[in-house]
Amino acid sequence: MNLWNANDLAERFYSGKSRALHGSHLTTGHRMWSTFPHLRPIATIINDSLNWYGRDDYGGAVHDVIGTRCDPYTNTLLSGGQYHHCCHSNLTRALADETGLSLREAEAHVHDVLNVFMCTGFTRDTGQYFMKASPVRVGDRLEFFAEIDLLGALSACPGGDCSTSHSSDAATCHPLLVEVYAPQNGALNGWEPPRSSGYNGSHGRKLPDGD
Ligand SMILES: [Zn+2]
Repeated sequence: MNLWNANDLAERFYSGKSRALHGSHLTTGHRMWSTFPHLRPIATIINDSLNWYGRDDYGGAVHDVIGTRCDPYTNTLLSGGQYHHCCHSNLTRALADETGLSLREAEAHVHDVLNVFMCTGFTRDTGQYFMKASPVRVGDRLEFFAEIDLLGALSACPGGDCSTSHSSDAATCHPLLVEVYAPQNGALNGWEPPRSSGYNGSHGRKLPDGD
């Protein structure tokens, strides 16, 4: 899943910083932070039906922010093949279709993801990223509170249940349903959207006049 500020694609989900602040996998109460210079929570997870899974004996857990996204470049590097429905390409086409940007322009905005429902971890002996079959079942869900107006894109990974190759049509994939709700009247009374970082942006240099 990718998230952008609906009014400014330059502000987008910052997977690595969210990992640094919360841990390798996100669940209820964790926040999805945005890129510099904003660094603010743009979405908060408010319900996770897979919360019960916790961390398994292998160190695996769901909804990671450690994987990047499957992409055609790595696939070509590893296999020499041309495959066009990796998550990276699915997200690129979705953003291009929604915004009217060219594929090349849209691709530059696609970023490291929240791996919704994926079950992943690091091997204990070698520290390598692993994926395994997810405990997700029909009806499972992850709910977010949008802290700002968001544009989101979601890819049903061609890796499917991770039982076969990752960048191919071999795995069984299942559709994902996205529903958007408005808050009930009054539910946001007293709430304010998060502000961008208070850092002055000088990086130790004198700011030019008018900046
Ligand atoms: Zn994928």
